[in-house]
Amino acid sequence: MTYDPPTSDTSGFFRFDELREVMVRQQFAGRGIVDARVLAAMREVPRHEFVPQHLAIYAYDDKPLPIGFGQTISQPYTVAFMCQAMSLHGGEKVLEIGTGSGYAAAVLSHLAERVYTIERIAELAAEAAERLRRLGYANVEVRTADGTLGLADAAPFDAIVVTAGAQTLPPAYQEQLAEGGRIVIPIGPTRHSQTMWRYTRVGDDLLGEDLGPFAFVPLIGEQGWNKDEAEREWC
Ligand code: SAM
Repeated sequence: MTYDPPTSDTSGFFRFDELREVMVRQQFAGRGIVDARVLAAMREVPRHEFVPQHLAIYAYDDKPLPIGFGQTISQPYTVAFMCQAMSLHGGEKVLEIGTGSGYAAAVLSHLAERVYTIERIAELAAEAAERLRRLGYANVEVRTADGTLGLADAAPFDAIVVTAGAQTLPPAYQEQLAEGGRIVIPIGPTRHSQTMWRYTRVGDDLLGEDLGPFAFVPLIGEQGWNKDEAEREWC
């Protein structure tokens, strides 16, 4: 599937820059998103470029949208929440699992020095890589692989963010996390019973914090859900 979303901030009656400003004010203020760098990045990234063209007018709504192959671009608030939970200052090397449209990777590119992002569906990875290249996100590298295994050749990471729902914490992430690094990951037995966890590496230990309930598509792979099992449990 290929699509060519609008390439400017204006389309017909829609001023996407204004919709983005409304998104930030209405969806984030009052819901705990206070990190000024995260708010600036969410104001900057043209989300309408990351959704199918016929959905561009909904790009700044408070909801996830379909991007093909049964996958979704996460709700803007969820992206902002996960980025804030990583506590990035700008010099970090970050790994994202679940490239999808490439939107969260684009937001992360404003917040960290280097972003690696992994997608298991080759077509989505190729589309996202092309989109990120076209939009000038030069510090993002997209790989097609099973992200449950992390990315050993680029480790260690200062932060790992997983944008699909895991069954348990894949051991590879702990092994590939730098001292003081953070893993932000939704974990749970079904789509509608996941908890967002933040794990911080302290020596050989991981300190876990429950950040509340969320809903994601499944993380499928060797250290994640089996595809058939996920379809049985989640659909
Ligand atoms: N971050 C994405 C964005 O900004 O558009 C949204 C991610 S979507 C909610 C979850 C993605 O995780 C899907 O594209 C799915 O194919 C991918 N995924 C699931 N299991 C994976 C795995 N083991 N490795 C890499 N990607 C995986």
